[in-house]
Amino acid sequence: MKAEIIAVGTELLLGQIVNTNAQYLSQELAALGIDTYYQTVVGDNLGRLQRAIEIARERAELVLFTGGIGPTQDDLTKDALAGLLGRTLSIHQPSMDVIEQFFSSRGAHMVESNRRQALTIEGSTPLANVTGLAVGNALKHDGTFYILLPGPPKEMKPMFEHEAKRWMLEHALTSEQPLYSRMLKFAGIGESSLEAQLLDLIERQQDTTIAPYAKEGEVTIRVSTKAASADEANAKLQEVESEIRNRLSDHLYATEDAPIEKIIVERMQTLGLTLGAAESCTGGLLSEMITAIPGSSQMFNGGVVCYSNALKQQLLNVPATLLEGPDAPGAVSSEVAEMLADQVRQLTNSDFGIGITGVAGPGMSERKPAGLVYVAIAQKGKPTEVMKLQLHGGREIIRLRSVKTVLYHLWCRLG
Ligand code: ATP
Ligand code: MG
Repeated sequence: MKAEIIAVGTELLLGQIVNTNAQYLSQELAALGIDTYYQTVVGDNLGRLQRAIEIARERAELVLFTGGIGPTQDDLTKDALAGLLGRTLSIHQPSMDVIEQFFSSRGAHMVESNRRQALTIEGSTPLANVTGLAVGNALKHDGTFYILLPGPPKEMKPMFEHEAKRWMLEHALTSEQPLYSRMLKFAGIGESSLEAQLLDLIERQQDTTIAPYAKEGEVTIRVSTKAASADEANAKLQEVESEIRNRLSDHLYATEDAPIEKIIVERMQTLGLTLGAAESCTGGLLSEMITAIPGSSQMFNGGVVCYSNALKQQLLNVPATLLEGPDAPGAVSSEVAEMLADQVRQLTNSDFGIGITGVAGPGMSERKPAGLVYVAIAQKGKPTEVMKLQLHGGREIIRLRSVKTVLYHLWCRLG
């Protein structure tokens, strides 16, 4: 079953709102085993909307509309479809009763245009709107299925979830096997080297799909399969996951769509371990990312943003001889990163201490290049580990990658 989504609304074309309805519907359709081949956006214009429908019905068996079923004169979706199919529009009395009841219970005056929200296309099935007033429509015409949904997501989603899905099931649109997916999250490895290690699996994939995609500092793999039941899907997905885990266990940190800091917070909570952080070039970004996770108060004691050399000396006891002078290693050095990690661990009385110092760019600092970053992890009773990173990208990316890299190494320590 091939579907097309037509989002109707001039405000979408003007960029005033984002087409989240298409995103939602595409995800839902995929889960039902229906392939979305096209997403169209068209303004509130009768002629162009009808043209979009003519194109859509050529290339899709199911056309879903969102928007343009409200009361105003620019709400034209029902008029456009009915006109094109040569069907009439009429008031659906039960929906009209709901609308009248809505206004009378509030003592409000109902204007004539509100009646438009109760219109249905001749021969269609009305789809009740439990969170709004405009009734949806579903119909089949010349072998094409049409579903008309409201624009506001809070109305569209429940209508799709309950009314539209039931209609689709009744019309056997969803008998195809639904798509089941599992997210695998990796850190400490780039997208291309990860892909290289899975190339044979990716190439020989048949009834499961392995799709990698990268975001700053993290790589996600979505493994998907169509199956008749959740159990069958789980068995297939598990097999692929195990194979991937065998090869990449040092990098696979989650089987849900979660950032690594969430996994670290949960793991440290479980293990009863605590953390402190001294951040220079990242300016508190690591502390921010950790504390954004609920429950972090149990494992994160606190941090110091030690941006100036003076503060590195005052709060973290970094000796001036390391920071200044012609022969000193300087603030961006492995010695200082190590001191920051050790000292902040002691200062915050934590099991782990993290130190980050580097050149976020864009220019050089201390005659060192942008992207040179030292990160250190101190752990009670263990030698402190310092890593030298040479990162690429703008200031924001360098800061983010510094944090993600040290978090990856912290995760490795947690076993
Ligand atoms: P109403 O009864 O509110 O007029 P409607 O079905 O006629 O609903 P529109 O007038 O097209 O829908 O859009 C109403 C509002 O719904 C928009 O202002 C916007 O906030 C939201 N909306 C519409 N289309 C989308 C979309 N594709 N994605 C996300 N939000 C949308
Ligand atoms: Mg409207």
